[in-house]
Amino acid sequence: MVFYPFYKEDAPGVHVYLNGRIVPESEAMVPVSDRGLLYGDGVFETMRSYGGELFMAERHMMRLWRSAGLLGIPVPVDEDSMMQAVLDTLEANELLDATVRVTLTRGPGPRGLLPPPEPEPTLVIMAWPFAPYPRELFMTGVETIIAKTRRTPPASLDPRIKSCNYLSNINAKMEAQAANAFEALMLNHEGFLAEGTVCNLFLVRDGQLRTPSLASGILDGITREHVISLARGIGITVVEGMYTPADLYAADEVFLTNTTMEVMPVSRVDDSPFKRGKVTESLMEVYRESIP
Ligand code: PMP
Repeated sequence: MVFYPFYKEDAPGVHVYLNGRIVPESEAMVPVSDRGLLYGDGVFETMRSYGGELFMAERHMMRLWRSAGLLGIPVPVDEDSMMQAVLDTLEANELLDATVRVTLTRGPGPRGLLPPPEPEPTLVIMAWPFAPYPRELFMTGVETIIAKTRRTPPASLDPRIKSCNYLSNINAKMEAQAANAFEALMLNHEGFLAEGTVCNLFLVRDGQLRTPSLASGILDGITREHVISLARGIGITVVEGMYTPADLYAADEVFLTNTTMEVMPVSRVDDSPFKRGKVTESLMEVYRESIP
């Protein structure tokens, strides 16, 4: 581990990385003028560590750099240092199976929307013991609704930016909670299916895998991309397109993907029930096998 002057080996509790130091979480302080706090002016990534190995770390780094680049937020460290800082955060918390969140904000600024000419970004890395979703969810699937809240249109915010501003997703997720559902599926501004609040969406029809294309205004999920290539690898046809709620209700199988859920079957969309099917099961299996 590199030398962190504020890292206290014996300090109890959670340690976080903050701007080059690893400190107990209770001592990790960010100025109240941080634009991440004031405007959601920042980007983030959520990664998985399996037995101490970061999964798809390069792709997450690429996406973080891309998100930051599209907003003009300078990344204060190089990729190797970032990766090392993530590993050090895991080590400081003695974690092997973990969820890691890297947050990069534009940092503190004067009052008003315009960023300072030379921003001093805030970089935070947090890690938690991986809390698996209950096994029965993978067996029976999760219940979902189609939310009234729509995905932020691409003309308002490039969906490739994984920004710290998740307000529409938060509203949609609260709609799900109010309906006793696990996840809310969001339509885009034109009424086509987009994605979940924290995941991508797949449906199976006549043995074909279908998923909203990037043109639907979604985040290009790393798990989505991986599942598409795994599916093609086992001979499943994958079509990326524009789909409607009617396509979803009429599907044979439905599932969700993200870094922590991996491949999660869906048992209901609004009033339409679904069963975990063969295609979903094969993909759950090949996904697991693809983890080093
Ligand atoms: N869409 C949204 C809106 C998300 O927040 C996430 C989670 N990062 C995903 C899709 C899935 O992305 P990934 O597979 O890279 O975790």
